[in-house]
Amino acid sequence: MSRVYNFSAGPAVLPEEVLRQCAEEMMDYHGSGMSVMEMSHRGKVYDAIIKEAEKDLRELMGIPDNYAVLFLQGGASTQFAMIPMNLMKNRKAGFIITGQWAKKAYQEASKYGEAIALASSADKTFSYLPDCSDLDIPEDVDYVYICENNTIYGTEYKELPNTKGHLLVADVSSNFLSRPVDVTKYGVIYGGVQKNIGPAGVTIVIIRKDLISDDVLPGTPTMLKYKTHFDADSLYNTPPCWNIYVCGLVFKWLKKQGGLEAIAKRNEEKAKILYDFLDSSKLFQGTVVKKDRSLMNVPFVTGDKDLDALFVKEAEAAGLVSLKGHRSVGGMRASIYNAMPKEGVEKLVDFMKKFEAEHGGEKNA
Ligand SMILES: *Cc1c(COP(=O)(O)O)cnc(C)c1O
Repeated sequence: MSRVYNFSAGPAVLPEEVLRQCAEEMMDYHGSGMSVMEMSHRGKVYDAIIKEAEKDLRELMGIPDNYAVLFLQGGASTQFAMIPMNLMKNRKAGFIITGQWAKKAYQEASKYGEAIALASSADKTFSYLPDCSDLDIPEDVDYVYICENNTIYGTEYKELPNTKGHLLVADVSSNFLSRPVDVTKYGVIYGGVQKNIGPAGVTIVIIRKDLISDDVLPGTPTMLKYKTHFDADSLYNTPPCWNIYVCGLVFKWLKKQGGLEAIAKRNEEKAKILYDFLDSSKLFQGTVVKKDRSLMNVPFVTGDKDLDALFVKEAEAAGLVSLKGHRSVGGMRASIYNAMPKEGVEKLVDFMKKFEAEHGGEKNA
């Protein structure tokens, strides 16, 4: 067996310990004589799995009792519609446009009501986050929406926007569980798990319970009503059972690492290794303003497309894979999620140093 260092933005690297445990439990989960994939989602064994996953997630994030945890399907993209369908009572919501995912959420919401762009960083290819300390927010918006970590462009909020008392809704797909969070600051926190938690197919929604009701937009499908899933403890229909089980194992792994404080410290250390090198390199440079840099997704370029392509190719041959930037921006991107070990980042920087020595070049900054 040979594992590579996988810098994919998602689906992404998972902790080896967790993968080993999945393998061990594949044929016979805890004496049940079957794998978690094969058992009834209504049975006792599975019930314990999903309940334990929720309990561990609540513990990790310190989720208060007045918030519900829902395990849903349809990816983060389905939330782009589900959120307005459930929350747009006045048919008006504000969006901070910081990249493609925020823009898609904004565009989808505009099908259901007035989606207002409160701020945007499109003018500089989303390489920074707009100042959100004093936004002009109409009084009657139902919520303010952000994408908290911009997977493609590599920016991440260090401080939440001042929503002036309005409800905050955040897509945390790519920085879920990467640092401690004060859940009470949000109305809804949600994300697809395939970036920083588990296998694709699960979307976790953490929502304040008073926001869950039958008062949704006319025509909202049963499956797209939060109340449907809340009332049924996320078992209204067949959930992605095995995927939720793997998420649960990752929650246990995170607890073993010391929880979110400890993981945040490690994430900071890892990102620093890479950013410090980028700041000193004569060939490579980061593409994001320093104060808004993401600890999860680190885009960088050489300034020469051919050299970028060569780098990606040679890195792959050296066992450092999926470093190609998103197709919309080019260059490189190293996603260094929770499960990326520090050695992976060190190996990457060593390789970048070697590449720089071979190909020289001056920063065209
Ligand atoms: C990947 C991603 C999405 C889309 O997720 P799907 O689960 O594929 O729908 C949305 N938002 C962010 C921030 C992402 O990184």
